[in-house]
Amino acid sequence: MKLYTIETGFFKLDGGAMFGVVPKSLWERTNPADDRNLCTWAMRCLLVEDGDRLTLIDTGIGAKQDEKFFSHYHLHGDATLDRSLAAHGFHRDDITDVFLTHLHFDHVGGAVARHGDQLRPAFANARYWTHSRHWEWATNPNPREKASFLRENIMPLQESGQLNFIEGDSARITTPLGFDAFVVNGHTDAQMCPILDHAGQTLVYMADLLPSTGHIPLPYVMGYDTRPLLTLDEKARILNEAADHHYLLYLEHDPLNEVAILTQTEKGPRLADVQKL
Ligand SMILES: [Zn+2]
Repeated sequence: MKLYTIETGFFKLDGGAMFGVVPKSLWERTNPADDRNLCTWAMRCLLVEDGDRLTLIDTGIGAKQDEKFFSHYHLHGDATLDRSLAAHGFHRDDITDVFLTHLHFDHVGGAVARHGDQLRPAFANARYWTHSRHWEWATNPNPREKASFLRENIMPLQESGQLNFIEGDSARITTPLGFDAFVVNGHTDAQMCPILDHAGQTLVYMADLLPSTGHIPLPYVMGYDTRPLLTLDEKARILNEAADHHYLLYLEHDPLNEVAILTQTEKGPRLADVQKL
């Protein structure tokens, strides 16, 4: 199994919303805000090459929304999904599988593209994978999460016939893609965090369970989370396991750090080191 970092650019979100009940005087030490209280976040996907299978994990925000939508998110940076794939010698048509951790727009926006007046899967030759329970949740959204589940990101996948479902409700499941995943329910229902092998080390794609190194202290839970106390339990379980076993934690949203390694301290898991793939 070979892993490649796929940067798709940066966006901005309100710092307060990203850190829930944590005071700004604490979170701004790791994530400085601009004059509108917005912090910069990466949308860092991961490409997994495993024999003939080429799996893209998450897809970034994409390019199909209108100017008004994008004006809220201040997209910046030179990286695009296509440029990042090309830097490793790949093209989007090479992708055999697209694994979606969950269906919020900053993870699934790039999964669908505009072709004239039609919306179609942006990866023509790929099977798309989502958790069956998350699909139900996203297609019948609650009012609090509704603005994150955009129908134009989701429905074209179903209509294409390229959509496949991953089942399983245990905390760790085996997927049909040659890797396991943690299933966590605090951020949204049935978010999946893939567990991969990187040169003999365990690497976990943390998605929105741990957006950045600034979120490592257990109570630093995003305001967006639908069940913050459940996130607290899930973080405690997985970050303690990661610290005990020196897992590599791949950070989708950290603007600076790609991979975090934790260590156990008397205050709980803390950052030991950062590295690139
Ligand atoms: Zn996210």
